[in-house]
Amino acid sequence: MTDVIVMGGGAAGWSAALAATQAGLSVLLLEKLAESGGSSALSGGCLAFAGTDLQAAQGVEDSPGLLLRDLCEVGQHVNDEALVRAYCEAQLATYDWLKAAGVGFSPVIETASGQSVPRVHTVDPADMVRTLRAAAEASGLVEYRPGVAARALIQDADGRVVGVRPGSGEDLFGARAVIIASGGFARNPDLLERYAPQYAEAVFVAGAGSQGDGLLMAEALGADLRDMAYVKGTFGKHPTDETNDHSLQAVYKGAIAVNQGGKRFVNESISYKLLGDAVMAQPWHTGYQIMDQGIFDTGDDRVRILDFGRRLEEGLFYVADSLEALAARIEIDPDVLVDTVTRYNGYVDAGRDPEFNRTHLVHHHGALRRIETAPFYAYPSTAVVFGTYCGLRIDNAARVLRSDGSAIAGLYAAGEVTGGFHGAAYMTGSALGKAVVFGRLAGMAAAAQ
Ligand SMILES: Cc1cc2nc3c(=O)[nH]c(=O)nc-3n(C[C@H](O)[C@H](O)[C@H](O)COP(=O)(O)OP(=O)(O)OC[C@H]3O[C@@H](n4cnc5c(N)ncnc54)[C@H](O)[C@@H]3O)c2cc1C
Repeated sequence: MTDVIVMGGGAAGWSAALAATQAGLSVLLLEKLAESGGSSALSGGCLAFAGTDLQAAQGVEDSPGLLLRDLCEVGQHVNDEALVRAYCEAQLATYDWLKAAGVGFSPVIETASGQSVPRVHTVDPADMVRTLRAAAEASGLVEYRPGVAARALIQDADGRVVGVRPGSGEDLFGARAVIIASGGFARNPDLLERYAPQYAEAVFVAGAGSQGDGLLMAEALGADLRDMAYVKGTFGKHPTDETNDHSLQAVYKGAIAVNQGGKRFVNESISYKLLGDAVMAQPWHTGYQIMDQGIFDTGDDRVRILDFGRRLEEGLFYVADSLEALAARIEIDPDVLVDTVTRYNGYVDAGRDPEFNRTHLVHHHGALRRIETAPFYAYPSTAVVFGTYCGLRIDNAARVLRSDGSAIAGLYAAGEVTGGFHGAAYMTGSALGKAVVFGRLAGMAAAAQ
């Protein structure tokens, strides 16, 4: 019998598999699609870590304590503090562990939501998953079964989870423990309608396997759910472009946001994760990011979510030498757009935005700057839901819990299928971070059981 079955081969699943093999366990990893990777491989590759060598090299002072404070603040203290604490305690060791496995990180970037100091560590996400998989498989302890979906969890007479039933007509797979790492449910219309009706008109981008399978299987055994009311979209997604994996990302770095009537509608310096709610409340659920050359130049072609240059090359930006001409291109009354920008510039000069109380360029970072240097740019933007950030209640050893707080024996979960960690909103890098940190913890916990 296999020691551990891992359900799903994204960042959480392969992290769990690697940690389990490092403890000497045999692993059967089931991946329902032909290729593993999930949403993890599609992602922006941003991970939130605190106290790293990269931050130190860039003169950034950070600590697990500050990370804890920020995560709870972003989550509006709805999050389960024990889980947040578990993340904060394990994240630095997980960062070192990823590096030891061969994962490479780029310098830390500043633009992020919910971070009081820069702590976004970027990776090539598909490469990170491949690296984790290669490291796990190098142990010789992994049996990898792509194209095999788990369909149900099997319990023994005492209620202990002892395996999974595959959908392919194959025999049951038995194991001493099962780790659910099947991702979120952004590709399951029924679950979205139940838990996120406010985002019915949003764009959803996620791995094709993100259908909530593991969540439904564990719920059927009495697992409790957390944070289900807090699915959030990210502002800055082009509403129609899906030409390549790059175009799936949202971009945002300090523009003003206007609706189709040419008026600002929100304090743009709140978390860009929360700007999603605001744009969904606008006509046609879309608006424009309006910026000048100065803000455009702050883009960064090394980071997918800040790569304005690539969007420009792809023809996704409207560009004009004057605000009036830009307004004409996006079919907004030029007088209204010019008035909006003029008033905004006045607020920048005065150091106070009485309309929306905008304080920074992006969340906690950057001084406000006038929009004044031609050419001027407009980027059509709506909210995109990249993940569902809610789900199975777990404890800090990744054990799946019932509503009375008792653990379902033999059952663990990690990554986007879990709830409780983010609370009401989430920090940039904390979803992929959660996948690797709790994936690793789940693998270790299964070994310790
Ligand atoms: C475009 C995009 C950009 C993002 N950018 C970021 C970012 O920069 N930073 C960040 O923190 N977060 C980001 N996120 C969110 C983050 O990537 C995910 O929350 C995280 O990667 C989820 O990891 P996971 O391993 O839990 O799930 P996944 O990576 O989705 O993996 C789950 C795997 O399980 C498989 N599976 C599902 N059901 C079954 C079953 N029944 N049996 C077997 N296998 C199954 C799936 O096919 C999939 O391969 C982004 C998401 C997207 C889509």
